[in-house]
Amino acid sequence: MEKLARKQVQALTPYMSARRIGGSGDIWLNANESPFDNEYKTDFARLNRYSECQPKALIEAYASYAGVEANQTLTSRGADEGIELLIRAFCEPGEDSILYCPPTYGMYAISAETIGVERKVVPLTADWQLDLPTIEANLDTVKLVFVCSPNNPTGNLVNRDDIITLLEMTKDKAIVVMDEAYIDFCPEASTADLLADYPNLAILRTLSKAFALAGLRCGFTLANAPLINVLLKVIAPYPVPVPVADIAIQALSESGLARAKYQVLDLNANRAYLQAGLSMLPGVLVHEGWGNYLLVEFTNGDELFKATWDNGIILRNSPIENCVRISVGNREECEKTLAFIRNQINQSAA
Ligand SMILES: *Cc1c(COP(=O)(O)O)cnc(C)c1O
Repeated sequence: MEKLARKQVQALTPYMSARRIGGSGDIWLNANESPFDNEYKTDFARLNRYSECQPKALIEAYASYAGVEANQTLTSRGADEGIELLIRAFCEPGEDSILYCPPTYGMYAISAETIGVERKVVPLTADWQLDLPTIEANLDTVKLVFVCSPNNPTGNLVNRDDIITLLEMTKDKAIVVMDEAYIDFCPEASTADLLADYPNLAILRTLSKAFALAGLRCGFTLANAPLINVLLKVIAPYPVPVPVADIAIQALSESGLARAKYQVLDLNANRAYLQAGLSMLPGVLVHEGWGNYLLVEFTNGDELFKATWDNGIILRNSPIENCVRISVGNREECEKTLAFIRNQINQSAA
């Protein structure tokens, strides 16, 4: 059967999501999920009818939250579908390419590969910022440049001045896609205000992280209307299930937004707790993080990862040597994880 698949697909290694990797235990800090399980009710009525392609109330609620216009907002099945829509709409397979800057989120490469679009890779600099001269030298055939800020898995923000330079550099040539999946944890770092000046800017957002709705599968793309209209040409006719729109609208209501804000404050405090506690341990370097996760460097990252895994604390190993990514859980999860790691390090020092 495999042989019947497209060659691109035969060669493809699927994205190893935290969920696919599995594990067993009672502390799950590997997928940047929220520890808050908020309750929603929906009446499951009207399911005999198709949903609106872009449910008006949902679009208006998110646009208002993001400080943009409704015609600058598109909703899709998670930010992941936004990535795919952008590539499908703007890149000619076998001709155009995307450019991305590792270490970063894995789905840009996988979506491009699936669609048969070439990938140009310009690693981040040593301090995980954009290597602008090398990007400029490689823009040939590039239609989309993906920039993740806060970056997953490193956690840092990309310099705003560099983003503006990149937008200028790519004007009339390529689209800069800012992946802001974690921006709700540091809203002051958003580039949404730059939409006023840059028709070649697209911004990815999601309800999966700060809104604690990873299982809902609801994301957004923000851009000026002409770009949004191109995406609307390639999106599926009914991309948003009726119950999804209903629950997302509740999450974006006044009380939903207040709750999300409170939960962000709580998680940011837990992140500070983890950061402070881990930093005190010998041989541990905690990188500054702006999302709901921290990238932590150990003397032997693989060993630490395995020790936690074997003891039911499921973290995410990272492509960066000796680094483990730890999602910020509730206070108890953070305390248990910190205590375990402290013990582990004391033991190997003894
Ligand atoms: C989680 C994540 C996404 C995907 O979000 P969904 O809305 O759940 O598809 C996109 N980009 C980054 C950087 C992420 O970490």
